Amino acid sequence: MMVIDEQRMYEVICARKPRSVALNGPEGLITKMQASADYISEKFGIPAYIIGDTCWGSCDLNTQAADMLGAEILFHIGHTIAIEAFGERVIMINAYDDVSFDGVARKCASSINKYYKTLSLLTDSQHLNQIGKVKEIFEEYGYRVVIGKGKGQLNDGQVFGCEFYPAFDIHNIVDAYIFLGQSRFHSVSVAMSTEKPTYMLDPYLDEYSQVNDIAQTFKKKAILSIYKSLDAKSIGIIIGLKEGQFAKIQALKLKKIFEQLGKRVQLIAMTNITDKHVQVFKGIDAFVEVACPRIAIDDHFSKPMLSVPQAFALIKLIKNEPIEDMLKIHHWL
Ligand code: SF4
Repeated sequence: MMVIDEQRMYEVICARKPRSVALNGPEGLITKMQASADYISEKFGIPAYIIGDTCWGSCDLNTQAADMLGAEILFHIGHTIAIEAFGERVIMINAYDDVSFDGVARKCASSINKYYKTLSLLTDSQHLNQIGKVKEIFEEYGYRVVIGKGKGQLNDGQVFGCEFYPAFDIHNIVDAYIFLGQSRFHSVSVAMSTEKPTYMLDPYLDEYSQVNDIAQTFKKKAILSIYKSLDAKSIGIIIGLKEGQFAKIQALKLKKIFEQLGKRVQLIAMTNITDKHVQVFKGIDAFVEVACPRIAIDDHFSKPMLSVPQAFALIKLIKNEPIEDMLKIHHWL
């Protein structure tokens, strides 16, 4: 069950006495946020707005919505990072899942020990509080367990779907990665960026699985899109309008490079980058999106859609340089 650190919200409200607040978080936490908002309204007598738009990470804060609502504090719930607040306005509120990994960790530890000596544990924000306990379990079974150091917004052992410092920076000393949580989104990207055996421990199904085959399929799809873009005469570069994904400078840099290579470039800006939104743009042979790299890597588009590392791989390909390691990096932005 997910447990939100509501106490922190109440302490902040008591200390700052805002006239209104807004709550923002992933869809899976909406029901819990409704209960928190009801409590805040009743106890403190102030409006508590729940922002119902999608919220995929700390890159998706929705402060514009808080501005429009006039909310003095925006509680961003459920994407624990190494930073507790963005300025005075945005307060990061932790939410942890209390599900136990005990059973699935023991199953995995007792089965893969003939293959690996040194493991590294990774997870997303909701299971960060479990890393210590699971480390002890794997150590009981004789493994050396290394937890990669956090960097920027990432805590030790934490990965985003596009940022992997705690995994990538130690890939030379690790035999395999163990990802805690039911997230193919995160575990597959660890396998793609490190190219090491990667296992996902699912505490709900009490099962573990290796995700490298799925990662390979995603990588092939990513490479295919690059080859399909090779003969493109016109390229649409899409700037995402979500604040933490806004990368105008990167878009302008890519525009310049593509124009030097003889391509015609159109600059486009949009908030939700979907096939439906992109299809209305005519006369463009391929797109590059400089927002969330997982949009291009994971989603389906009728025309080739490239993320930033894929766009740089396309540039290399045009220059006849190898592109094999394009995703084997610590950050896909
Ligand atoms: S993968 Fe996308 S949604 Fe996740 S942190 Fe990166 S940019 Fe944000």
